[in-house]
Amino acid sequence: MDRAVSGEQPGGRRRLVEALQERGVRDLAVLRAFDLTPRHLFVPTGMRHRAYEDSALPIGNGQTISQPSTHARYLELLALTGNERVLEIGTGSGYQTVLLSHLASQVFSIERVGTLVTQARDAIRAAGASNVSLLAGDGTLGWREYSPYDAILVTAGSPTVPAPLAEQLQEGGRLLIPIGEREEQILTLFTKHGGELERRDIGAARFVPLIGKYGWPA
Ligand code: SAM
Repeated sequence: MDRAVSGEQPGGRRRLVEALQERGVRDLAVLRAFDLTPRHLFVPTGMRHRAYEDSALPIGNGQTISQPSTHARYLELLALTGNERVLEIGTGSGYQTVLLSHLASQVFSIERVGTLVTQARDAIRAAGASNVSLLAGDGTLGWREYSPYDAILVTAGSPTVPAPLAEQLQEGGRLLIPIGEREEQILTLFTKHGGELERRDIGAARFVPLIGKYGWPA
């Protein structure tokens, strides 16, 4: 770890990385991203003492910052090499956005709740990430201007794959999205081959609903 960032518990990031290793996270680039990202900047002040636990925490507006081991699972599945252009749907606190910024060349992230975008922008800046662009809006429409993307990850549960996201995925690219009911989904990894999406089911997941034109109604 390079240095502590104001308000950080000493050794917090190191303990979190060790907890992730104990839970089977092996990808060294992913572990390094956790080591470089000060999670306490992404949780409300009253929750900072819990920032380096492997727990989901409330971030306001009825939303949560996901459990770090869930982020790690997502990031391992994307198998990024550092050269990718990535689209994230559901910025939330912006923590995963910064993890991605250490694993890809450019990160584009969309969040539907405007106040979360404002908070995330400040926290991302404080964490020192400079290869991130944020958009407030409906992520089920994607972000056509910067497409195609080498990887797209959706951190909210959807009934189906939103058509614009399938279109905006690069040939050979990966799309990771929880698909299923409003309360329970299957985390699903799609790879685009010959313009078609090849599906691999990863396992059960529980995410907040993806609300938008190609997701669930509000
Ligand atoms: N990865 C985030 C983090 O590190 O804090 C947590 C994401 S949270 C589980 C899911 C987010 O998806 C919520 O902030 C929610 O507002 C957002 N969301 C839901 N539907 C959306 C949509 N159509 N477009 C963009 N964001 C959406």
